[in-house]
Amino acid sequence: MADRVDTLILHGDVFTMTGGGVGAIDDGAVAVDGDRIAAVGPSDRLATEFSAAETVDASGFAVLPGLVDGHVHSPEALIRGVAQDVPDYMERAMAPFSRALTADLWLAGTRLNVLESLKAGTTTHVDFTTPYDGWAEFYDEVGVRARLTPKINGLAPDAMAQAHGAPYRFDDAKGRRMLDVADDFARTWHGAAAGRITVMLGPQAPDMLSKELLRRVKEHAECADLMIHMHVAQGDREIHQMLTRYGIRSIPFLDELGILDSRLYAVHLTEATDDEVRRMVRCETSMGLCSASIGLLDGIVPPAVRFRNEGGAVALGTDSATSNNALSLFNEMRLTALFNKVKARAPDVVPAWEALRMATVEGARAVGLGDSIGSLVAGKQADLILIDLAQLNLAPVLRAPIRNIVPNLVYAATGHEVDSIMVAGRFLMRGRRILTADETAVRRDAQEAADEVMRRVLADPDHRKLALLDAMRDGRL
Ligand SMILES: [Zn+2]
Repeated sequence: MADRVDTLILHGDVFTMTGGGVGAIDDGAVAVDGDRIAAVGPSDRLATEFSAAETVDASGFAVLPGLVDGHVHSPEALIRGVAQDVPDYMERAMAPFSRALTADLWLAGTRLNVLESLKAGTTTHVDFTTPYDGWAEFYDEVGVRARLTPKINGLAPDAMAQAHGAPYRFDDAKGRRMLDVADDFARTWHGAAAGRITVMLGPQAPDMLSKELLRRVKEHAECADLMIHMHVAQGDREIHQMLTRYGIRSIPFLDELGILDSRLYAVHLTEATDDEVRRMVRCETSMGLCSASIGLLDGIVPPAVRFRNEGGAVALGTDSATSNNALSLFNEMRLTALFNKVKARAPDVVPAWEALRMATVEGARAVGLGDSIGSLVAGKQADLILIDLAQLNLAPVLRAPIRNIVPNLVYAATGHEVDSIMVAGRFLMRGRRILTADETAVRRDAQEAADEVMRRVLADPDHRKLALLDAMRDGRL
């Protein structure tokens, strides 16, 4: 007598991401019951062991765990493409846009961001943003998995204007209020939607809040058993601030403060030295790597290879549409592999299977969700994607003597090949149609909100200082 399950996916090229590699099963199957995976294995076996309310024929499709976007600022999707290819990105390209993108418009950006990444196979979104009404609700409504990180900083107004000079002025009362908001947000949302929505605390960066406030964030994180998600050692600005204020670099500073441990998920690390990387891995801190964003913003390849070689876990992140400009983990996988090969002048650095592991099983571990997602294993959450291998850029499909699917997913796919998406056992997209949100309305609202941002920027005299204005006048944009 066959066991009854909700969904049986048969005859796919299944990649479980188990066993240290990609866990390929030719003609593989996945049985899903409720929000969990009931079994994974060869189709002939699962077809006899299970009967299902719905059977999906996945012939011609690759079946993979849903991808994890380990770091993103979702409201910024509204200002994609207005600030790249210039030095001093923050001051000379972004400042008037950031000012104009006020909280009333953020939801339109988040909605665009979430749907765009979802359509590219991202099922888990680690979003770092100042909380606002509707933020978590939208993730809940669409049905994706979210690891939401309310931002906390203690910067006085306009503190960043003196970035390379004296230490920023802090406003601790404001910082404490942001921590209160984050605490409240965590009480409401951590573990909500049957565990699909969880929360991390987000002190923005070691230089952006006082030592006292940072200590307090750590206490609250321990008390509520939350991870800390923080930008760390990002750019010479931060290191300059740390040296000027404390006479010590970011990573040893965090270590002395007791923050460098397995509770910390540190993003970027562009300035981390070899010794600092070793120190972080020894302390079981994990790393967020935003290859496209940091490449575009700074022309830097962060030390993720060293981090992994020391034994640390690395997640990939898109960072934001403003800095990237794409919100596709396929883009991150390809660029992570390419940038690190170029940096090392060695083609065997970050092979395709490692990039795919960073976007799935290793990324899940880095952001603290390794027990519930990231691989296709019985008992884990049923977060999976079906990729259409009949797309021209993935053809031909070969299985022996060499299986070419994973290299082509990493080096040739863009995300548009993702056909269907399941999160917690529920299909959110089929045949590229999103079932839980109105894509047309989301795009229209995003356009309207972005038009409003541009009206505000045009009215701001500071827009005349934008570095890209010359390119615009000269016909280069
Ligand atoms: Zn960031």
